[in-house]
Amino acid sequence: MNVQDALTKGIQILKAAHIEAPAVEAGVILCDVIGCDKSFLYVHGDAIVAREDAERYFDKIELRAKGMPVQYITGRQEFMSLGFTVGPKVLIPRQDTEILVEEVTRYSKGLKAGVRILDIGTGSGCIAVSLAYYIRDAFVVAVDISCEALEIAAHNARLSGVDSSISFIHSDLFGSLCAPAGDKELFDIIVSNPPYISLHEMKGLQAEVRDYEPASALYGGADGLDFYRKIITEACGFLKADGLLAFEVGYGQAEEVEKMMKNNYYDICIIKDLSGINRVVTGKARTN
Ligand code: GLN
Repeated sequence: MNVQDALTKGIQILKAAHIEAPAVEAGVILCDVIGCDKSFLYVHGDAIVAREDAERYFDKIELRAKGMPVQYITGRQEFMSLGFTVGPKVLIPRQDTEILVEEVTRYSKGLKAGVRILDIGTGSGCIAVSLAYYIRDAFVVAVDISCEALEIAAHNARLSGVDSSISFIHSDLFGSLCAPAGDKELFDIIVSNPPYISLHEMKGLQAEVRDYEPASALYGGADGLDFYRKIITEACGFLKADGLLAFEVGYGQAEEVEKMMKNNYYDICIIKDLSGINRVVTGKARTN
């Protein structure tokens, strides 16, 4: 069987399973199996695919046909132009989250070098790793309640060569963090893309998300806002005066989160994503 035959058959299987972009995904899976880039497929349609490779390819095509996200099949996702390893224990990094990273990166430019950042619920580490990568001399603390997620995040930090700038801590939100002893231990920025899907929305999630991505990374309590409530209250004790709290929020949550922040934060900004949806909420900690 050659590359072209493998693609044609793979595309057929994915089409029959109503997968949205069958040609793209069959290509991604074939590249993953034979270890080549996309252009190879176009140029070498007649190259022979070894039998073992063809078997592995069709096994993976079957997984995709059943609905497993392609990122869990290949074990990879790009985020902020960096490569991340992903698996079913972590949320697949989303493009929308890049807005949060870009906003924090932009804000950090106005700060003195040695910016201290806390990332709550780091998952794959996509936020922590890209901030450590793009903000020079940043020091990032990344926490997660899942040890498996922390292992993947630490691996991703090594992949991007920023492991010496990030400290990974197993913690339920702020639970295992030491109370800051002085100004130097406070953070300039606390960032989080917490689980924010409400009970009602969990039922309507796309099957691919609901059946494959970790519920603990998605579910944010009855109204989806549980983690914002907790983080907003507790963050004050960990932020420097005028330090930034920056959240990703779900569809329709920005105003609610803004309201919750009003007492303890000022200069609250809501930033839209590429589809025009309010996606990021930031505010600066009030000093008394
Ligand atoms: N911080 C990770 C991300 O943005 C994980 C988020 C989560 O699991 N809710 O992808």
